[in-house]
Amino acid sequence: MAKKALVTGITGQDGAYLAQLLLEKGYEVHGLARRSSTSDVNLTRLEWLGIEREVRITDGDLLDLSGLVRTMQDVKPDEVYNLGAQSFVKSSWQQPILTGQVTGLGVTNVLEAVRLEKSDARFYQASSSEMYGLIQEPMQSETTPFYPRSPYAVAKLYGHWLTINYRESFGLHASSGILFNHESPLRGIEFVTRKVTDAVARIKLGMAKELRLGNIDAKRDWGHSKDYVRAMWMMLQQDVADDYVIATGRTTTVRDMCKIAFNHAGLNIDDHLIIDPVLFRPAEVDVLLGNPQKAKEKFGWEPKITLEEMIVEMVEADLKRLSK
Ligand code: NDP
Ligand code: GDP
Repeated sequence: MAKKALVTGITGQDGAYLAQLLLEKGYEVHGLARRSSTSDVNLTRLEWLGIEREVRITDGDLLDLSGLVRTMQDVKPDEVYNLGAQSFVKSSWQQPILTGQVTGLGVTNVLEAVRLEKSDARFYQASSSEMYGLIQEPMQSETTPFYPRSPYAVAKLYGHWLTINYRESFGLHASSGILFNHESPLRGIEFVTRKVTDAVARIKLGMAKELRLGNIDAKRDWGHSKDYVRAMWMMLQQDVADDYVIATGRTTTVRDMCKIAFNHAGLNIDDHLIIDPVLFRPAEVDVLLGNPQKAKEKFGWEPKITLEEMIVEMVEADLKRLSK
């Protein structure tokens, strides 16, 4: 019998790559997706990977506990990956309550549905390096204290602790992956890497002249989504549930990440980049740098794709998309 996985946030970047990985491993993959009048475009990421027909989509919303309970009864998953969230930090200041409800309380809804209907299922929570915010140690590990700097990060911290609490209170096999930024050609266009690679492709093709950014001195530890979804799966294969940092151990400024993209296209960054104060955030996370040692020691996870390889892949994908 094939193992069954239920993935919330299946229409997002990680949902698509995780579904691909699980299908390759022989899983029956069920995805929770919000019903939408634009359902024809909802599945674009799964279509990009050519797996839209292999995933079984169920209508559902993280805010709707009864729907989640019913889905858990119907699917009876062996593994549940909670990737759904309002995931964009900047929007979380515009929509703090919605972000709290979806990104925070939504975790309670999924955990409750698991506890009530499939308490032996293994559960993964998509936690975030944003929880470190105003960093308390130069390199962040599982033991570094948190200091969230946005409504998004506060909501993620709630989800992280609730996952630990359900593990300790009810014995659920619930793990929290503290993932540092990870990107890919399927990254949402509002995030800085994809915004940059899309703009570089447009400039290259003569469709645009400039790229407007905010704080380009911010530093991030960027990895590839494909590497990071592999870590999610590995976490759930461990006998004992635990929490893990997933990162590359290298940090780069937004400016230097941009240079990789511009250089690849044979463009000079100084001819096109404009700093726009409107794009600065009310509170910034200046630098993130993760220590993935525990994941390496416990289950041998290491990233395979470098930042340079990833940015080049993203520029090429955007050139291809825009040339169509
Ligand atoms: P995306 O923004 O690409 O995907 C988010 C997903 O959540 C989408 O499928 C979206 O559906 C879904 N969603 C939003 N609101 C709801 C809701 N109310 N009910 C059900 N589903 C909902 O995020 P990523 O794939 O990049 O990230 C996956 C998870 O990992 C997220 O929880 C994110 O916060 C977290 N994370 C991501 C990091 C990164 O660098 N990518 C780093 C650390 C953590 P729809 O398509 O309908 O909008
Ligand atoms: P985050 O780390 O989850 O907030 O991921 P983002 O990709 O949205 O942002 C990464 C960093 O890039 C943050 O420090 C932002 O302030 C910075 N940044 C600078 N300009 C921009 C911009 O125009 N858009 C976005 N999204 N981020 C920007």
